[in-house]
Formats: sequence, C-alpha cells, structure tokens
Amino acid sequence: MAFCTTCGANVQGSFCTSCGTPLSAAAGQQAPPAPAPAFQPPPAASPMGATPVAAAPAKRGLSPLVWVLIIVAGLILLAVLGVVGAGFFVMHKVHQAGSIPS
Ligand SMILES: [Zn+2]
Repeated sequence: MAFCTTCGANVQGSFCTSCGTPLSAAAGQQAPPAPAPAFQPPPAASPMGATPVAAAPAKRGLSPLVWVLIIVAGLILLAVLGVVGAGFFVMHKVHQAGSIPS
C-alpha cells in the first residue's frame, strides 16, 4: 500500500487515481519532500539604505528648448497621423468606388 505524496490518496496502480502522480514519484510511504536548501543571502547584496535612484537627472526642470522640441515633435506626429489617416480614408473610398460591390 502506497500513498500519494501529492494528495495523500491510496495508490494501487502505477499512478494515483486521484491526481495522476506516478507511483515511482510516490515510492516509499510518506517520503518527505526534499528539504529546501538553507537560505543564503546573495553575496553581492547592497547594504540597507543604499542610494534609491542613481539615474536621476541632474536638473529637475527641463529647459524651454526641450519643451519646444517636444511640442514640435508632437505636432509633427499628429500631422503625420492625420495625413496617414486621410490617405487610408481616401484609399478606402477609392477602393470602395472602384470595386464592384458583390
Ligand atoms: Zn494523488
């Protein structure tokens, strides 16, 4: 008589009828699971209270030139998106007009 180490049910065949665990894995009654290795802290652990963020920018605020560049880039992106959308719309219309509706 063997017992399944997974669910504890009686195993009478090669596999547990309750959860399907192979009997080979459950050989030996109530075999304890492999003991977890002793916890060892990583050797290169940083000490407590280390610098939280080392990649912080030096200046808090962005220069106005950067903001202008960001705004211009956003406008260009919107314009590109609008042109692409209009192009797709026109293509769709042309395709609709040119194709024979079935
Ligand atoms: Zn089982």
